[in-house]
Amino acid sequence: MATNIREIQLKYSNQQKCLNLLEKLRWGKTVTCPNCDKNKIRVVDPLKKRYICKSCNEQFSVFTDTIFEGTLLELPIWFQIIALVLNAKSGMAANEIKRHMGITYKTAYYVAMRIRIGMLEDCTCLNGIIEMDESYFGGKHRQFHRGIKDEHPTISGVELKRGRGTNKVSVAGMVQRKGKVKTKIIEKLTKRNLLAMLKTYAKKENSILVTDGFRSYKELEKYIDRLEINHSKAFSKGIVHVNTIEGFWSYVKNGIRGSYKVISKKYLPLYLLEYEWKFNHRFYRCNEFEKYLKNALKHDKALHNWKAESTQQVKKLVYNQ
Ligand SMILES: [Zn+2]
Repeated sequence: MATNIREIQLKYSNQQKCLNLLEKLRWGKTVTCPNCDKNKIRVVDPLKKRYICKSCNEQFSVFTDTIFEGTLLELPIWFQIIALVLNAKSGMAANEIKRHMGITYKTAYYVAMRIRIGMLEDCTCLNGIIEMDESYFGGKHRQFHRGIKDEHPTISGVELKRGRGTNKVSVAGMVQRKGKVKTKIIEKLTKRNLLAMLKTYAKKENSILVTDGFRSYKELEKYIDRLEINHSKAFSKGIVHVNTIEGFWSYVKNGIRGSYKVISKKYLPLYLLEYEWKFNHRFYRCNEFEKYLKNALKHDKALHNWKAESTQQVKKLVYNQ
């Protein structure tokens, strides 16, 4: 079900209504201390819904340790921006949010980044037919205008040979046919790194991996059943293809190009999270808005440190590695 911004506006028209929903989604009926998980609490501020824990004496609210922590923006505006962002299938730049909502660019950017962090889902366990492939991100903005085609992995031409060995950011991706996608920035596409990713995100039993003939993938055979597509001969032979993951890469790249123009390497993981979420919910028929909020409210101290200073830290935040 689409998340209709007008419905959100009507249903969550004031701070109280929004807070009630957040509390319901995070705690159900029992308010629980994020610090010690006990539920003997006392209300400190009934309007702002602030509590103090009788066990550990910590003050908290439904915002504590979530993307909403420390925000000064009213929740109805947050909710509307979330609805806007969820509906923008190819992405929405902070400037666009600014224009829609009449807020400053700084606020729009802050909220947009936090919304992306809230899209981090628990380990998706892929199984069945799993396609694995990598793609390269980067290149300067002007390259788009010059028509240089290496923004998409291409099989023609030796130089552009699927981008391997370039100095761009390499991202490995796995997708379950008719299922979810999971990506990860991997500096070196070695067997060891790819295997680690495979082990984290896929179930080996009853699964089959489809890749191209890149050496590092060949070596995964010792771990999981694998089919190989030979790109120089054909794009697909029956079920042996990597069209789904390649479709995902073009979805992401077209989205970034169209909506964000240029993004920094540092925050690429967060943009990937956004496109993963959108891809993974493309057939979702229930209330995506509430599902998103529930996911974003998950008690996760890592979210607290969202202002990561380096690529490494962003990666740590996103991938817990
Ligand atoms: Zn406590």
